[in-house]
Amino acid sequence: MKEDGCILCKVLNQKQKTQTEIHHLRSGQGMSQRGVKCIPLCVEHHRGDTGFHGLGRRGFERLYNISENELLEAWGYQSGISIDWDKF
Ligand SMILES: [Zn+2]
Ligand SMILES: [Zn+2]
Repeated sequence: MKEDGCILCKVLNQKQKTQTEIHHLRSGQGMSQRGVKCIPLCVEHHRGDTGFHGLGRRGFERLYNISENELLEAWGYQSGISIDWDKF
């Protein structure tokens, strides 16, 4: 997974400028480890001023017109492998 670049940079066709980090999606309720999914995001798009945690979920979705679940789908598609998410 570290080999992967930022999925948002890919979607936006941008050149990635910062390191790749893993963003964990918390879908659904509770703190169960099951069903935790993650996507690679660069530092800027993860926690920078234009990043998911910098903008918050709503701001992020509005700015890029894409949700984290859509990014997850895009990443699954681009990486071309199916992942057994229960391992994470
Ligand atoms: Zn990025
Ligand atoms: Zn995150």
